[in-house]
Amino acid sequence: MSESTVLKFGGTSVADAGALQRVAGVVQRAHRNTRPIVVVSALAGVTDALLAAADAAASGDAERIRLQLDALLERHAEIAGRLARPENARGIRTVLEHTRAEIADLLQRVAAEPERRPALRDELAAYGERLSAALLTAVLLAADVPARYVDARHCLITDGTHGRATPILPETEQRTRAELAPLLDRRLVPVLGGYIGATLAGVTTTLGRGGSDYSAALVGAALGAREIQIWTDVSGVLTADPRVVPAAGTIPRLSYAEAAELAYFGAKVLHPKTIQPAMERDIPVRICNSKAPAHPGTMVTARGELRAGAVKAIAHKCGITVLQISSTRMLGAYGFLRGLFEVFERHQTVVDVVTTSEVSVSLTVDDARSLPAIVAELEPLGTVAVESGRAIVCVVGEGLRTTPGIAARVFATISDINVSLISQGASRVNLTFVVDEDRVQETVLRLHDALFEREPADLDAAAATGAP
Ligand code: ADP
Ligand code: ASP
Ligand code: MG
Repeated sequence: MSESTVLKFGGTSVADAGALQRVAGVVQRAHRNTRPIVVVSALAGVTDALLAAADAAASGDAERIRLQLDALLERHAEIAGRLARPENARGIRTVLEHTRAEIADLLQRVAAEPERRPALRDELAAYGERLSAALLTAVLLAADVPARYVDARHCLITDGTHGRATPILPETEQRTRAELAPLLDRRLVPVLGGYIGATLAGVTTTLGRGGSDYSAALVGAALGAREIQIWTDVSGVLTADPRVVPAAGTIPRLSYAEAAELAYFGAKVLHPKTIQPAMERDIPVRICNSKAPAHPGTMVTARGELRAGAVKAIAHKCGITVLQISSTRMLGAYGFLRGLFEVFERHQTVVDVVTTSEVSVSLTVDDARSLPAIVAELEPLGTVAVESGRAIVCVVGEGLRTTPGIAARVFATISDINVSLISQGASRVNLTFVVDEDRVQETVLRLHDALFEREPADLDAAAATGAP
């Protein structure tokens, strides 16, 4: 099965009939020279609408977004009517009728059974990917691709943490192979929804927002695929978030370490966990543009390549809270840090960046839900200061390992912006720091201009004078 390739299409790649037709073209071409496995996200906007309906139902107001949800569901039938064979379009229409009734029932249960809400939310959200996979299967069949719908919940087996489930790897590998290998052997093209899975007991779970990329990587790893392709709405991983930096350009090659850091620190184009399964099996990950399929996009492999100027990209992540814990009891004491991090572990809160001095620890979290409880438990350990409204900026490049002077250039460029928590990641391919959220766009724009848009001679001058 080593010649199989996973092709994952994101929500915007399947937003409308035109987009789905382009996807069918990509899969058709892939089917000529490899054995494609297709992983697909919900149609753009559908997951948001399903989760909003769950929230509305929880506050006793399910009717509020019903029209919007109905219109989004109807889009599946409209697209099938235009692109699928008549019998398959009728099939989609029937599935949709059942789905509407099931969703109405689930929304009632969300209101009536508050203790089961996390599980019901996942059940609701899963309809997005189940429908898009059924629709894409029908569209592919009409394009003469021998597609077969596969229920992803029979492949991706997870723990029961609803909303952000963790895959159980041996089980997932075994089931994915058992489901997909017989189809691939018959040269059929499996089509499965990303983002969704199920527990061993068969209860529906989801991998967290944007999790279809992760699904694709897990499927690719399970099958020892030749390549994992992430098809999205931009031409690969760009040098910065294009919504902030219009001049951002495609990065042709990245190492796994670089891509993982970028994904982790805010480059939405890849779900943060995508790289891990690919890296473990040494499977290349390619990020491609479904609107410009001929563009080579970005290739992520073990080796990557160095770029003159050392920096490959700048990522940023908003909504960060910084906690500073100060205590003279840290001096010469052992076990202090363990006690501190155990607090975060108990509250299942991920810590992103950590810096320590002799008497204080500063760290960042982006999930502030458990913050009041965490702070209460940290207070016996020392004085706790909480700063919200911060952002992480992460400058990434393999060249940072070996090129001196990058930090000087970076900080000279933004010398008038208040910077805290500076850390050069353990992998040494990133330089990470924290700024105020309301200055993060300016920070990223200025760094991009200095590190990518100017001549190296300008950079030397800027570093020497401290001028931005
Ligand atoms: P999909 O629906 O295909 O999963 P996403 O919206 O999740 O797509 O991710 C693609 C988007 O990620 C792009 O449209 C872009 O706005 C955003 N993005 C943020 N940072 C980057 C980056 N460094 N490179 C490319 N895209 C980025
Ligand atoms: N449809 C899911 C979401 O919107 C998963 C994904 O698109 O990757 O979060
Ligand atoms: Mg995504």
